[in-house]
Amino acid sequence: MMDCRDVFERASDFHDGDLSDRDCAAFAQHLGSCSTCSEFYRTFEQTILLARTVLVRTPEDGLPERIVHRHRLRIASGSTTSDPTTGSLGAPLRRPGPTSASSH
Ligand SMILES: [Zn+2]
Repeated sequence: MMDCRDVFERASDFHDGDLSDRDCAAFAQHLGSCSTCSEFYRTFEQTILLARTVLVRTPEDGLPERIVHRHRLRIASGSTTSDPTTGSLGAPLRRPGPTSASSH
């Protein structure tokens, strides 16, 4: 028999089909009799599906390369201009480069 902890630990195995027939049956049986675990597994499966769709959806799939490129340019230029805190005021605090080495 499986208890709730077994279900939590083996949810991914069950989802991937890595459980033996007996464990698989016990898992399904527990889900049928335990509302907590059936709810947990439903959320678990939705999370996996969501994660996979996010991972699978690469820019090459949906967007033309030109749009992606333009979008990246906009992000790059926007990060330098739209953040005034890293401008002239923030510079004197940290001075990277050869000047710090020579003043030593
Ligand atoms: Zn349970």
